[in-house]
Amino acid sequence: MKNSLETENIVIIGSGPAGYTAAIYAARANLQPVLITGFSSGGIPGGQLMTTTDVENFPGFPDGILGPELMDLMKCQALRWGTKLVEDDVFSIDTSARPFSLKTSEQTIKTNSIIIATGASANRLGIIDEEKFWSRGISACAICDGATPQFRNAELAVVGGGDSACEEAVYLTKYGSKVHLIVRSEKLRASATMIDRVKNNSKIKIHWKTVVKKAKGEDWLQKIELLHSEDKITDIDIKGLFYAIGHTPNTKFLANQIALDKRGYIKCNPGRPETSIEGIYAAGDVADAEWRQGVTAAGSGCMAALASERWLSENQLSKPITRDEKEPEKLNKKTTLKNEDANEETFDVKSEWQHGSYALRKLYHESKKLILVIYSSPTCGPCHVLKPQLKRIVKEFNGEVLGIEIDIDKDQEVAKQAGINGTPTVQLFKDKLLKKEWKGVKQRSEFTSVIESLI
Ligand SMILES: Cc1cc2nc3c(=O)[nH]c(=O)nc-3n(C[C@H](O)[C@H](O)[C@H](O)COP(=O)(O)OP(=O)(O)OC[C@H]3O[C@@H](n4cnc5c(N)ncnc54)[C@H](O)[C@@H]3O)c2cc1C
Repeated sequence: MKNSLETENIVIIGSGPAGYTAAIYAARANLQPVLITGFSSGGIPGGQLMTTTDVENFPGFPDGILGPELMDLMKCQALRWGTKLVEDDVFSIDTSARPFSLKTSEQTIKTNSIIIATGASANRLGIIDEEKFWSRGISACAICDGATPQFRNAELAVVGGGDSACEEAVYLTKYGSKVHLIVRSEKLRASATMIDRVKNNSKIKIHWKTVVKKAKGEDWLQKIELLHSEDKITDIDIKGLFYAIGHTPNTKFLANQIALDKRGYIKCNPGRPETSIEGIYAAGDVADAEWRQGVTAAGSGCMAALASERWLSENQLSKPITRDEKEPEKLNKKTTLKNEDANEETFDVKSEWQHGSYALRKLYHESKKLILVIYSSPTCGPCHVLKPQLKRIVKEFNGEVLGIEIDIDKDQEVAKQAGINGTPTVQLFKDKLLKKEWKGVKQRSEFTSVIESLI
């Protein structure tokens, strides 16, 4: 690639399906977009699909695909065409002067055009043990998760009293044996037709003036504790609890710079990506309170990129790069997604990053170097965020630290012995001693400072 731009052509904010699709289109148009992935504001890099397991309705995957895998593929495609990734959050944008500027935690970026694809976060109730059963019975998307095998012919519950809650309750009667609709007040805030559909459906039972207090179960949700208005507490046996209590668009950082509707969504004309400011476009859930699907987000990301490309060229602002090759080298799909566990033949004592229990045992017993082990699982979105970050850290230490990835689904015994009860968990060993353990995604400096102190 040639050119490093002082003022970018396009900056895309957000790394969900909308952001990556916009990046693929802009990068293929030689505009070398910068994509700011987000880190902790409004979700995680990769967006909402990083928090789900099987995605069965994204076209092109007849057997379904894991949400984090789908997002990894989109990321690879955007990178292959030359998207520049910045792993950070945007804290503010300034649209009062052109080029626009954006502030992240580490830099100010100037750009002629912006695509905002920061999504929306499903509101949560914050009940006891919600985190434990999230994606293990609790979901914020009945349309996405309703057909999950665990929910078939089981009793399910929906929380909420609006149109979405009613629609989801009716939808779930296709799968569940009975659906409890849990309504905080004494009436539904839905359209008359929707209310009729709920009331005429013999599989739906409405619990008026009731709130959910607690989720209960072992590995999967089994019960919820309900508090009724007359201070009565009851448990009901259910396998699925669906939240339909609204979404909050991730637009706080825009702070009155762009027109929003009264719920905080970016205002665009129906089916169009243009915002109230020329040169700034919106895509995906951040401007869509209605459809909120991966494929609709991706479609609107495409529209935003094409509109931005057109606007840049009409205003003579476009600075396309020139490519040395007509087409970037193809990625080997196998190596981008799957990594083989090391075995007797493939284990390499000098390799900086390996997989599986064989490599762990060998290095643990035979290596004098620091060993960084990440325990992950294929369905864990945050693991997909953390792994590339750890790989970069290992690389930076130039052979002083060796990284190993353990898939706790495949290596259950190893995970048990290591006392792992959630992913991602990272352990750092020196001379067979556990020096430090981290749970969840952390800033890179948290890892590097401990590693530096042990070298
Ligand atoms: C549990 C669950 C399961 C789902 N299952 C399905 C399914 O099976 N099929 C389907 O089609 N849809 C599904 N959906 C809906 C789908 O995930 C969303 O519609 C889609 O992800 C929206 O894409 P998006 O790109 O607009 O936003 P998101 O996916 O929400 O991505 C937003 C991105 O913006 C970033 N961001 C936010 N704020 C900032 C900031 N200030 N600075 C920088 N970055 C920021 C976030 O980190 C994130 O990367 C599901 C949703 C959930 C919650």
